[in-house]
Amino acid sequence: MKVLKVDHIGLAVKSLQDTLPFYEEILGIKSNGTEEIPDQKVRVAFLPVGDSEIELLEATEPDSPIAKFIESRGEGLQHIALRVDDIEATIAELKEKGVRMIDEKPRYGAGGASIAFVHPKATKGLLLELSQRNDD
Ligand code: ZN
Repeated sequence: MKVLKVDHIGLAVKSLQDTLPFYEEILGIKSNGTEEIPDQKVRVAFLPVGDSEIELLEATEPDSPIAKFIESRGEGLQHIALRVDDIEATIAELKEKGVRMIDEKPRYGAGGASIAFVHPKATKGLLLELSQRNDD
């Protein structure tokens, strides 16, 4: 298991359309376009910043995890993602070390990444995403 960098920071927002102008027009960061991930009931936009990215997440269904997050905690920081070299090996190693995982198997992430979430109980409150890009 090797952690390579902060891959992205995920922000839950009510509306991509209402949020993107701040990042694109005021901060001058151009998004890579949007992608819907039906599996997670979200639509996301990635905004590359240097070697990392900002991910904006909007719910597509009322029972989406993002909708529930906004309902209880409001818009804002939702997760941080670390890039790892080998997602399968990382999950196996963390499980072996007794770390509580939300995902025990990798699942599809935006842009074709393989991702898995670590349970916030294991990280003192942070929803931590692990991400492996297959184009590395
Ligand atoms: Zn993410």
